[in-house]
Amino acid sequence: MSRKSAVPTQHDLTGGGLGNDPAWRQELRCAIRDPYELCRRLRLPEAVADESAAAVDGFPLFVTESYVSAMRPGDVDDPLLRQVLPRRQEKDPTPGFIQDPLAESTVQLRSGLLQKYHGRALLIVTGACAVHCRYCFRRHYPYAESPKTITDWEPALQRLASDASIHEVILSGGDPLTVVDGRLAQLATQLAAIPHLERLRIHSRLPIVLPSRVCKEFLTWFCSNRLKPVMVIHANHSHELTGEVAVALESLSQRGVMLLNQAVLLAGVNDTFDTQRELCERLVMLGVTPYYLHLLDPVAGSAHFDVSEAKGKAIIDELRTMLPGYAVPRLVREEPQSPSKTVIR
Ligand SMILES: *Cc1c(COP(=O)(O)O)cnc(C)c1O
Ligand code: SF4
Repeated sequence: MSRKSAVPTQHDLTGGGLGNDPAWRQELRCAIRDPYELCRRLRLPEAVADESAAAVDGFPLFVTESYVSAMRPGDVDDPLLRQVLPRRQEKDPTPGFIQDPLAESTVQLRSGLLQKYHGRALLIVTGACAVHCRYCFRRHYPYAESPKTITDWEPALQRLASDASIHEVILSGGDPLTVVDGRLAQLATQLAAIPHLERLRIHSRLPIVLPSRVCKEFLTWFCSNRLKPVMVIHANHSHELTGEVAVALESLSQRGVMLLNQAVLLAGVNDTFDTQRELCERLVMLGVTPYYLHLLDPVAGSAHFDVSEAKGKAIIDELRTMLPGYAVPRLVREEPQSPSKTVIR
């Protein structure tokens, strides 16, 4: 498996054939890719950028201006910066941290279509993301082999149409919302035409890292569809939930989108009770139910983010005594052969 960069390609950036370039795509195109630029922007010492530049290989720095603007300038330990800045430790090989920890290469039904669990199947719409999260379990996924155009989707769509046990399709990636609305709307129309499908779920970090992505065009196709819209966002820290993000989330809940959050438990980012409590409380106030808190998948290059299961359990137990039941996420781990996520707490 190659370490394929997931920076949006020219193909992704021109797809859809729409003349006007929406604001969110302009911001995506201007995303920061250079550690020196990021460090200047955050008033961090050049040595930090030197280390970062040396650590980068197939999975470069990539972060939107929206996300950078929520970081604290001058703080090398900022919890948002830590999620996106390449560090020296990524190069340390750690036993047990491997390229495809979830063995996803074995659950592929068709090119770009994965099914691990009963009743729902996952479409890998694109490999591109609007940020590169250093702990990401998809950093080694062979995106180059996934479908690119609507006709490339035919085999996956036919497979979905032929299996009446599938009731929900999850658009995933990469980040599916890096793809233009014209192309996603076409895909959604074809999915809505499959009678046994009931729900369309999107897994996206864009409402957090590029809130302008929740635009009118997107809301129109996602919410005027026959399929019940569900969105699972990905916020790890309360600082990510800025005023602009709040506006984006509000426009989704106003349209009846069921909103859930999944987070990853990350050392130095959100591995304390207080950080988790702030995150969960703020999510609830924005109409988002904390859904999953994932233990880190043991992907090569991410060992420095690892938090023990015991610590995760202790945080959840404390949250449960302090918050309403609906504000406490399930602590889960993903295991290659399991019929669902494994609930730890
Ligand atoms: C996590 C995941 C899902 C969704 O699982 P839920 O428990 O329904 O949120 C579906 N397919 C795959 C391959 C997954 O990894
Ligand atoms: S965690 Fe999500 S947004 Fe971040 S790099 Fe991975 S797929 Fe992309």
